[in-house]
Amino acid sequence: MASQTGAIVQQSLNALMGDEAFLPNLQEQAREQAFLSLAAILSTPNKVHKAFLRITADSGNVVRIPAYRIQHNDTLGPYKGGIRFHESVSEEEVTNLAALMTLKNALHEVPFGGGKGGVVINPRQYSAKELYLICKKYVQYFSDVLGPDKDIPAPDMGTGEREMDWMMAEYKSIHPGQPYLGSFTGKSVINGGSLGRREATGKGVYFTFRYMIHDFLKAQSSWLSGSDNPFVQTAIAHSGRPLTIAVQGFGNVGSVAALEAYKCTYLHNKVTAVSDRNVTLYNPDGLSIPALIDYAAQHQGDLPVTEDALASLGLKAQILGREAVLYLDVDVLILAALEEQIRKDNVGQVKARIIVEGANAPVTGEADVTLSSRGTIIIPDILANAGGVIVSYFEWLQGRETQFYTEEEVHKLLYDKMQKTLNGILPVFFGDPHPLRQNCYIQAVMKLSTMLYRQGKLY
Ligand code: NAD
Repeated sequence: MASQTGAIVQQSLNALMGDEAFLPNLQEQAREQAFLSLAAILSTPNKVHKAFLRITADSGNVVRIPAYRIQHNDTLGPYKGGIRFHESVSEEEVTNLAALMTLKNALHEVPFGGGKGGVVINPRQYSAKELYLICKKYVQYFSDVLGPDKDIPAPDMGTGEREMDWMMAEYKSIHPGQPYLGSFTGKSVINGGSLGRREATGKGVYFTFRYMIHDFLKAQSSWLSGSDNPFVQTAIAHSGRPLTIAVQGFGNVGSVAALEAYKCTYLHNKVTAVSDRNVTLYNPDGLSIPALIDYAAQHQGDLPVTEDALASLGLKAQILGREAVLYLDVDVLILAALEEQIRKDNVGQVKARIIVEGANAPVTGEADVTLSSRGTIIIPDILANAGGVIVSYFEWLQGRETQFYTEEEVHKLLYDKMQKTLNGILPVFFGDPHPLRQNCYIQAVMKLSTMLYRQGKLY
């Protein structure tokens, strides 16, 4: 497990070890042993599967592509987590992402464990036929360890409905006569996917931010107003007034989160910047997100990078470098691209006082400490970006029952589930001086630890 996730899990275990009300039957030496066992279990994956996928490229050459499926923990249920196609994929990265899935599912009480997959390619450099072969081979190589009751992949960066449809079809041909709809989630609706799945992560990201800073604070203002907790003060300073929002990443998560913010007119917030792998677009008066989404849909997901392209959309914006989004003078920064975007070396330039982690692990441990010491609120990945896995769970349920919900039903169920988690975590966060990430980890680790203890797995 990467150092940041591992370190916070260990801090959570230390806090719980000293909390006598937690697992009170465990005393003295038995307690010490149990917490050492928990640290060992949670800091390592159960299984690491690696393969070199053999593909015949369009050129006729055979190429070997490194691929991973890492199964971190299945205490809560079958392993669950996306498959990432990106050139920077590594065993360490996939292991960390798998551990985050274990914690995310525990926090939101989704009955799945944590897993993750990755293929070391830049998908833009492969034809559709080559990508199809890569997807088929991935399922062939890992078919023994995948399945609706074993390990259920989903899309992640560089993959989407198309890849999940291909993979599910391959799974079905390898396992004839067996249930297959629950083998992959994030499929197209026609192939058994759930309505509302594509938008679920981005919608959940914006909902988490909005619920915390607007709805929850408004309802709780009487007991929070006198607090000297720096996070409470930051939250109150940003509640009940229009906010400026910048979004890094304009893919599945970022574009939907930006659209939700744009459409949420009753708060009068403005999306003043969006960015992608090429560019940052900034307009302090606000950007038309629907126009940019239409443009990206016609240009392989990319934002416009020239004045002419912007003019053709009737838009005005400053065209800045792709990193500029991180340092703009905005109230809220939604990170929805990659890991490690805010680090020790650039944290000093970040001005936003509320950061929402749509991506996984976009703020490093050191940067997190610096930001938190300034009272900046970081809404962490395992809290904010769980919409995808929550609706994946609904998709898996619908596939089992072959009964399908409407889009409205899916989104209502999603918001109800996220709100339940938030109502559990926010009173604790606003009532003590620890960052929100630590509160979320403690909650998730409590759930996993209690289950492992009751299952007799700590001896
Ligand atoms: P995506 O591939 O649809 O979009 C990624 C976006 O990031 C694109 O706009 C791309 O141009 C941009 N980008 C790539 N490199 C960049 C760079 N160096 N600087 C700035 N922008 C860059 O991916 P996605 O599905 O939106 O996922 C984004 C993040 O959210 C990932 O970290 C992923 O793990 C996480 N996440 C996704 C889901 C989901 O359901 N899709 C769920 C949970 C977490």
